Amino acid sequence: MVKVRVLDTAALISWPISDLYGGLIVPHQEEELLRISPDRAVLLESLGLVYSQPDETSLNSAVTAAKQSGDISGMSETDLALVSLALGRSALLITDDYRMQNVATILDIEWQGVSEVGIGQVWAWTLICSGCRSEFEAPNSTSAKQKNYGECKNCGSALKLKRKK
Ligand SMILES: [Zn+2]
Repeated sequence: MVKVRVLDTAALISWPISDLYGGLIVPHQEEELLRISPDRAVLLESLGLVYSQPDETSLNSAVTAAKQSGDISGMSETDLALVSLALGRSALLITDDYRMQNVATILDIEWQGVSEVGIGQVWAWTLICSGCRSEFEAPNSTSAKQKNYGECKNCGSALKLKRKK
């Protein structure tokens, strides 16, 4: 199963819409987004994002870690809430903010940069046969929007695009 992801506002803005589905965010980010990117904010409702609040224990741990590392002075409440949320849910934290990354590292939270996952990264795709499940090499990464991938050489069933784990 794919790990639950806590999404930084930068991810909400720059990631393809389809990659945001199921992401955890804190309510305050909607205000931020309305300010920075109103068009995106309007879309939020339909994106399948999950509004969530960090639990008290996680929040305390994050604040303590941020104080110890000295990062707290440069962190907003949203930043702290997102780190805490990732901690409490054992989620993957998506952020380009080095302070958040630093505190996450201290707390042993797995994190990833926004641009690493978004447009910057080329997903690995594979074509899988809907019949015999044979796998074939995908044409290329940009064909993800295309619907028809032809037929299986082995059994003639339709091929479907699947992201490699
Ligand atoms: Zn087949």
